Amino acid sequence: MSISENLKIINEKIRNQEIKSGRKENSVKLMAVSKFNPKEAVIEAINANQFLFGENRVQEAKEKFPQILESNTNVNLHMIGSLQTNKVKTAVQMAQCIQSVDRIDLIREIEKQCSKLNKKINILFEIHTGEDSKSGFKTEKELFEVLDLFADNNFSHITPLGFMTMAPFTSDEKLIRQSFISLRKLQEKCQNQYRMLNFSELSMGMSGDFEIAIDEGSTLVRVGTAIFGQRDYTQK
Ligand SMILES: *Cc1c(COP(=O)(O)O)cnc(C)c1O
Repeated sequence: MSISENLKIINEKIRNQEIKSGRKENSVKLMAVSKFNPKEAVIEAINANQFLFGENRVQEAKEKFPQILESNTNVNLHMIGSLQTNKVKTAVQMAQCIQSVDRIDLIREIEKQCSKLNKKINILFEIHTGEDSKSGFKTEKELFEVLDLFADNNFSHITPLGFMTMAPFTSDEKLIRQSFISLRKLQEKCQNQYRMLNFSELSMGMSGDFEIAIDEGSTLVRVGTAIFGQRDYTQK
């Protein structure tokens, strides 16, 4: 199946799940995760009207995206993989949002680099909700310390928009759903506690579990394999 056919199918599934779950129509955005896929695949997706992309690694994104972003102003790139501090400078030049924000030194570096570029950037706080993933904030205490700093307006170039998580890699639907529920509950708690901040975005759900994620309140699903096919890890 072609990329455009896959996109059509995924978009239909998203719309159907919105209805089934009693969600508002078009309340769930689709991100195409293009990691390990060539620039040509990204362009094929753009030609099929897919404009939001996610990449895990800064180096790989840098090989594919700068030119695409320059010639397509409606295309947006989010970084979704764990981010080393020394890659932040390059990441913020390309990305509209960094979804994998999981520690304070990363936030300070994002603020520093964006301030140099005079650029505002969006972020999501990545939360550890499943056993398998290593990344993400692991305790509410750590997260709240960071949110306190945002509430005190310490980072004028960074706009937090919500949360991101990865469910555990398991076929046990209950465990997957549990992980999404815990992200939504955290969102509710933070929204009550920090009314001056906005946490409306919930980035959760991938190729294998996006329908469960939509059922639990996802506003942005990150889909790779179901759009681009199996990744060829021997390429990189
Ligand atoms: C690779 C990746 C995805 C997409 O995974 P698929 O199972 O291929 O849809 C989504 N989110 C993150 C953080 C990823 O690393």
